[in-house]
Amino acid sequence: MILVKTEEEIELIRKSSLLVGKTLAEVAKLIKPGINTLALDQMAETFIRDHGAEPGFKGYNGFPFTLCISINEQVVHGFPSERELADGDIVSVDCGTLMNGYYGDSAYTFEVGEVSTEVKELLQRTKESLYRGIEKAIAGNRVGDIGFAIQNYVEGFGYSVVRDLVGHGLGKNLHEKPEVPNFGRQGNGPKLIEGMVLAIEPMINLGVKKVVQESDGWTFRTADRLPSAHFEHDVVIRKGQAEILSTFEYIEEVLN
Ligand code: MG
Ligand code: MG
Repeated sequence: MILVKTEEEIELIRKSSLLVGKTLAEVAKLIKPGINTLALDQMAETFIRDHGAEPGFKGYNGFPFTLCISINEQVVHGFPSERELADGDIVSVDCGTLMNGYYGDSAYTFEVGEVSTEVKELLQRTKESLYRGIEKAIAGNRVGDIGFAIQNYVEGFGYSVVRDLVGHGLGKNLHEKPEVPNFGRQGNGPKLIEGMVLAIEPMINLGVKKVVQESDGWTFRTADRLPSAHFEHDVVIRKGQAEILSTFEYIEEVLN
């Protein structure tokens, strides 16, 4: 069953999503060569709890951390660790919060130090693909219209779309129906109805689309070990234009 949210529920998801955006901005302040990713995780957990929420991922299906931190060829669900970020790395930081019973879920891929032009473009275009998808996330369209827009845009650059991992509905649960693939056909899939809340999260690979899971049982990486980028927003379906509930504004204030 696909849930349609009331305006009160949407406001609660917005509050939770905004806290995710603020948490990711705090992460952005610390990202530089030499920092270990466990330090980012510990800071994020403290920040979230200090703001009256709980880390949304910690304990979810047994996930042991506040952040999913995925470096370079790692796609998503990476574990924070003692590993230090290095100049030229890219790092996807995915964060969830649970506040007043509702989840927020957003991700941003950061550059560490000086990144190659090829990889910088992968990040810019993956973020742009997210907005192309959001443009299609309107009442009366179908889920496949979102995936088609993302896929059509990124494949034009020779990139590939991860198939094994997808976006999702969001609310009282971190993952609700429908699944929101980042690939698809126009006019296919469940119909989008006003008040549905979706987490749209393209995972785009520089090389092949195939991913494999590491022996930790969580981390996904690209099969060819080429880099992958990931950006995620929470949106509510409206007539004519989706409303974005999460934000990159705080992050980009730090970065610029
Ligand atoms: Mg996420
Ligand atoms: Mg998500």
